[in-house]
Amino acid sequence: MQEHALALPLIFRRVERYFGHKRVVTGRVDGETTASWAEICARTRRLAAALDRLGVPIGARVGTFGWNSRQHVELYLAVPCAGRVLHTINHRLFHEQIRYIVDDAADDVLFVDRSLLPVVWPSVGKLASPRHIVVMDDGADAPLPDDPRILDYDTLLAEVTPHAGDFSIADENTAAALCYTSGTTGDPKGVLYSHRSMVLHALLLLMVDTFGINERDVVMPVVPMFHVNAWGLPYAAMLCGADLVLPGPAMRPEELISQMERHRVTFTGAVPTVWRGLEPLLKEHDLSSLRTIICGGGAVDGALSRSYEEAIGIPLTNAWGMTETSPVVTVARLSTVHDDLDPDARRAVIGTPGPAIPLTELRLAADDGTEVAWDGATPGELQVSGPTIAARYVGEERPGPAFTDDGWLRTGDVATIDEHGYVRIVDRTKDLVKSGGEWISSVELEGAIMADPRVAEAAVIGVPHPRWGERPVAYVVRRPGAVLSADDVREHLTAYVARWWIPEEVRFVPEIPKTATGKFSKRQLRLQHPRSDDPSQPSQPSQPPRSPPPPPPPPPQE
Ligand code: ADP
Repeated sequence: MQEHALALPLIFRRVERYFGHKRVVTGRVDGETTASWAEICARTRRLAAALDRLGVPIGARVGTFGWNSRQHVELYLAVPCAGRVLHTINHRLFHEQIRYIVDDAADDVLFVDRSLLPVVWPSVGKLASPRHIVVMDDGADAPLPDDPRILDYDTLLAEVTPHAGDFSIADENTAAALCYTSGTTGDPKGVLYSHRSMVLHALLLLMVDTFGINERDVVMPVVPMFHVNAWGLPYAAMLCGADLVLPGPAMRPEELISQMERHRVTFTGAVPTVWRGLEPLLKEHDLSSLRTIICGGGAVDGALSRSYEEAIGIPLTNAWGMTETSPVVTVARLSTVHDDLDPDARRAVIGTPGPAIPLTELRLAADDGTEVAWDGATPGELQVSGPTIAARYVGEERPGPAFTDDGWLRTGDVATIDEHGYVRIVDRTKDLVKSGGEWISSVELEGAIMADPRVAEAAVIGVPHPRWGERPVAYVVRRPGAVLSADDVREHLTAYVARWWIPEEVRFVPEIPKTATGKFSKRQLRLQHPRSDDPSQPSQPSQPPRSPPPPPPPPPQE
């Protein structure tokens, strides 16, 4: 057989040659634009030339702060095809984290949507590493900082001679993209995706028992393009020539649902909070074109899925994955073994992570490291291995504690697996709270709260929340004699963490329960935390949620 690198130029060549007539729609602050894949490929060639013109070294990281947009697709293609590494960054992180990430990645150039410039400028404006900051027009008229590094995207592309001929990546293990994910302790960790893993992942998404994305689809990734490559959906769409509908900054539920209706979207994916936001609007729109709604990054809420099925005829399909896993590892699907189930039971199957997609292997480990049987009842830590799974984090010479001695990824999720390989997530061992699809580090919040001299101890747990999936709750022990209110704690936190991290609920307790080894017992705290549906428990000291987290992603004016 021929030695042939599995590299993103293969995807570029295919979309350019076969699917130039298909379209990419992008929402803007001031409306919407439609481009053909042919136009996007032509601009990709210009962008690749522009990277050369800016002197971006081969292998250098190119950072992006962008909505889901046509320009972001151009960067998805040009940066890795031209031998650089695409580093997508979540603009919702706290400036300390953004600064850390851009610095750690040593981004040589940043590409920023104009509406996001005021959001990220306080974090990146003073950083030494980016030599250029290229601003992309998304219809916003946010002021441009008076800084010689600022360039205009369209001008840059207009001034160069497009890259001619083929793009070529000789070694398929070359880095193509980089994403940072929250560590439970310490700084965010980078995951580098290779060309090979990205091509394989895109191919896997096309399989009928995975997402079955195909040329007739109109794919709308609502999941942000800064979040694990929008779950790989843009590359899958290019590979098979599907149309793409990208919401840009038009992320309000009314805007999303009317884009779905107008463009006859067939396939879409987002975190549960997005689907909760759209649910009240379902009956007012014609969504008959939709065939699959992927609800990933968190558990599917059964009642919500039933509402979808009743309103538009399809339930929510769950998928499980992580930044470290490219991300898709399992996708729910009804197989022949479920043929006799009633509609409620079938919806429940579709609402759990489901079986592993091809090439990826799973196992469950008990505390002592032994394997747990696949009996659908015994929980164990979910571990994953395969060609689209990270082998270590960026900067680690050898795999750290997130990996087993034999190289499997320890996911920090606790699951059961049934005899047919169907996964169900039952708990999480990592100390993180997932709110609106985004991570909040409990440990970091605790450290920030305890930085207040009026606090003796603080522990943070995640509790279920009807809108955001989970929200952090802070348990705080005051120092003897200290006067400290919940508002004081929140006020103090504004200097340390993003607004949406700040717990609405702060509970003062005489002490935090401890484990035998003296650590905070989060398990005990979770057990003693009043359930919101428990009438015997007094309701919370009523604090209006002063600082609700942004919906993922927040409307641009937020
Ligand atoms: P993503 O949000 O794309 O899944 P992250 O790396 O941000 O990627 O988060 C991964 C974590 O999210 C998982 O380890 C798990 O805790 C949680 N998660 C992802 N998918 C599911 C799911 N289907 N059900 C429950 N939890 C999930």
